[in-house]
Amino acid sequence: MDKLNNLVDGYGRRLTYLRISVTDRCNLRCVYCMPESGVSLMNHEDIISYEDILRLARILSRHGVNKVRITGGEPLARKGLTGFVQKLSEIKDINDISMTTNGILLDKYAQNLFDAGLKRINISLDSLNKEKFKRITRTGSLETVLKNIELAKKIGYNPVKINTVLIRGINDGEIIDFVNFARKFELNLRFIEYMPIGGNIADALSSKEIEEKIKLEFYDFKPKQSKIKYNNVSDENVYEKKLSVYDGVSRMFGFDDNDAAIGFISPMSEHFCGDCNRLRLTASGNLRLCLFYDNEYNIKDILKESEDEIVFEKISNIVKLKHFKHNFNEKAEKKEDMSLANDFMNAIGG
Ligand code: SAM
Ligand code: SF4
Repeated sequence: MDKLNNLVDGYGRRLTYLRISVTDRCNLRCVYCMPESGVSLMNHEDIISYEDILRLARILSRHGVNKVRITGGEPLARKGLTGFVQKLSEIKDINDISMTTNGILLDKYAQNLFDAGLKRINISLDSLNKEKFKRITRTGSLETVLKNIELAKKIGYNPVKINTVLIRGINDGEIIDFVNFARKFELNLRFIEYMPIGGNIADALSSKEIEEKIKLEFYDFKPKQSKIKYNNVSDENVYEKKLSVYDGVSRMFGFDDNDAAIGFISPMSEHFCGDCNRLRLTASGNLRLCLFYDNEYNIKDILKESEDEIVFEKISNIVKLKHFKHNFNEKAEKKEDMSLANDFMNAIGG
């Protein structure tokens, strides 16, 4: 197999990162992700099988995909996840496997998943206040998630990242509490801008707004920067330019006196489409080229081909259709409806 025959979209971007939603089911009902009544769930037989996902991952790994995130719905709600992670970790060219979870079931599975090859984990946590946590998740227990964050660190997950979505009028008063929480446990916490893709149920805060509030409290809160040296050809001087440090799509900040890291993921206010390297597999087995566009392509049908080469060729043609950038900011400005036709976030995986 020609390893150089990489997966490249129509704009020359190499697609190296596959995000897999293994289920649309969830044990929580977060207000910004699902309607209270829940969403109509897929029949079990319509959910893509682990075998199909693994075959897809193997094929794509031979063409440049080296990073995988397991998400959902709640990934820990799907049976057999540990065995799936074990097989995924045996794929030679996939060298980074992570998972996003609400953390509720981690005490049951965290150790076995770690032993099976999962080494990085993101735990979603939107409030440090018991009542607000319940209001946002509609059903979850804050105490359980906090205990399980501690457990994940103890087991050796590194890093344990915390995902936090702030919603005006609900948890926007907790910005400094979250920063103190990250500092106390030296965590890597990222604020994710709310995306109104399930219908606009909430008023989002921009990353900038959060950043400014933190700066008022912590004088040493500043962007992590790396220095890049450039040779200036005309006078042969070397000059340095400071660039913000990104961890994936998260712009990273830190403190002088503490190892906590705070990141900002800003899909709404600062889209990062130019460098997008992502493909998403939905729980129903559709390939989705962009979170914000409804176009999906049925992978389960494509995997009926017996030749891996034909499967790759078909996927290779599909990824050429990836949009250059999303148009959510324009839609937001015009106050247009931004809900997606096909899926809620629980099926796509965020
Ligand atoms: N159930 C798992 C969890 O909550 O971590 C994984 C799936 S969830 C869809 C993945 C991430 O997407 C979570 O961190 C969640 O906070 C985020 N998310 C869900 N809906 C969102 C929205 N409308 N805007 C921004 N982030 C969202
Ligand atoms: Fe479930 Fe995660 Fe969506 Fe919350 S954000 S409802 S935990 S899938």
